[in-house]
Amino acid sequence: MSKTGSVIVTGGASGIGLAVVEDLLKEGWRVVAADLAPGAIARAREAFTAYGDQVRFAEVDISEETAVADLVATTDDTFGPLWGVVNSAGIAKDVPALETSVEMFRKILDVNLVGTFLVAREAAKVMKAHGGGSIVNIASVSGMRGNMGRAAYGSSKGGVLTLTKILAVEFAAYGIRVNGVAPGPIETPLVKEVHTKEAREAWMRTVPLRRYAQPREVSGAIAFLLDETKSSFVTGETICVDGGFASGGLLPS
Ligand code: NAD
Repeated sequence: MSKTGSVIVTGGASGIGLAVVEDLLKEGWRVVAADLAPGAIARAREAFTAYGDQVRFAEVDISEETAVADLVATTDDTFGPLWGVVNSAGIAKDVPALETSVEMFRKILDVNLVGTFLVAREAAKVMKAHGGGSIVNIASVSGMRGNMGRAAYGSSKGGVLTLTKILAVEFAAYGIRVNGVAPGPIETPLVKEVHTKEAREAWMRTVPLRRYAQPREVSGAIAFLLDETKSSFVTGETICVDGGFASGGLLPS
């Protein structure tokens, strides 16, 4: 399908999702930025006024099954056949396992893993009817490594990595590709809230490129995975956009 199709970006009003929305609009996609935060949605709406009716905004909690089904159906029925989904909505806490409450653990799994599953499942139902599509899940290098303080968050992202492979296998028969992007440290509102001075120093010591990235440095990999003309044989894959973190080990001092 060409860029006449629509793309839903969850978490599209902030950080990585916001950068993805901007990139996709520039590339000519019709984009729905779906997010939970009304203030962030209002700011994004203001920022993208120049794109007119090429962009829509939806206030949705991705962990709510009915709301997700409505989002997908409305987009597909009224905005152009749904071609793509970017699952960027997520929450994080950096807390030692011994201080992690079961409520916090469940909440993080509910948004990051169950929410990603719900959006992918509902999207795949309509993509299947159209004969194809592309789903990109934003995981994290914290789902690949035993990063301290990430019992809940890292577990949720490890689940996203495995879910990505399973859905790629199951949806391949319908022409739907499912891939992931695993960012390292990216300067977003989420990171500004979660990363302490000590955490920043630890990342700087362990990322070979020795810096945090900007959100737009992640969105190119996501746009590539959405675009059938560029990545038609890529599925079940997760691309790390992490300054070399996941490949690293002992680093020069
Ligand atoms: P962010 O906080 O800037 O953006 C996340 C957006 O998701 C917010 O606008 C928030 O309102 C929205 N959101 C949260 N819960 C939601 C829900 N239940 N329903 C709908 N929207 C919801 O954060 P970000 O750094 O841009 O993170 C985007 C994704 O990238 C997340 O999945 C995050 O885990 C992942 N990630 C970020 C980093 C990083 O360093 N920033 C690293 C690895 C992975």
